[in-house]
Amino acid sequence: MTAGDRIRNTQLFLFDMDGTLYLENDLYDFTKELLSVIRESGRRYLFVTNNSSKSVKDYIVKLEKLGIAAEYDDFLTSTQAVAYYLKLHHADARLYVCGTESLKEELRREGFIVTEELEKTDCIIMGNDTELTFQKLYDVSKLLHTRPGIPYVATNLDYVCPTSFGSVPDCGSMCDMLYNVSKRRPISVGKPSPLMPQLAMERTGIDAAHTAMVGDRIYTDVKSGLNAGVLAVLVMSGETTQEILKESEDQPDLVLESAACILSALKNEDVN
Ligand SMILES: [Mg+2]
Repeated sequence: MTAGDRIRNTQLFLFDMDGTLYLENDLYDFTKELLSVIRESGRRYLFVTNNSSKSVKDYIVKLEKLGIAAEYDDFLTSTQAVAYYLKLHHADARLYVCGTESLKEELRREGFIVTEELEKTDCIIMGNDTELTFQKLYDVSKLLHTRPGIPYVATNLDYVCPTSFGSVPDCGSMCDMLYNVSKRRPISVGKPSPLMPQLAMERTGIDAAHTAMVGDRIYTDVKSGLNAGVLAVLVMSGETTQEILKESEDQPDLVLESAACILSALKNEDVN
């Protein structure tokens, strides 16, 4: 199949956001048309994000500001993936959350008890904690030391989160600090785990043969697509350089200059 055919064969597009549909606060010029052409053709899309510091509501506001109308069901976040994972494996666990208030709030809304009392904790949740304090690191260290085997789950393991000036530490870097004191690494539900694409397919009823994961990072976006057995599409509009691509062990199924190539394919124009 040609690249164009593989794109046209796709019924469900899972889009990473930053670096794929916009760059920080600048929407790419093709994004609006791309999203409406996908919908008009009867296909589906979901926005997939590892960032657990923001709630879906925050993302709806962000996209609205960029001129894109979105609703709750258009998103798949690593917070939703944590809730999905916990319901499967630790349904009644009381959670110590090293994460933002917004992460705690979403987990409570999913029916979980969030506690700061260590003796009442059954499971540790790590998020992209932009409200991190030393007390939280202290508490998690204590739990990891005094409660061997306690379930330990991270929303994502990205090392850095992009900003206008470069980057700041993300959840993976915080988990590395805790690895240094405990030698334990959490289970991660965000990309590159296949869990989010799997949850997306379960939610939409569309199978792996007709699903594509599209993103600008190999070690999260592309890898989650590969792990889930869907079409793994790398776009070169974000952080991946030709050099990174060449050296990567994980090779995408398709490499596109940007997601504009998807729009071209769906309009039956040449790709790339
Ligand atoms: Mg990205």
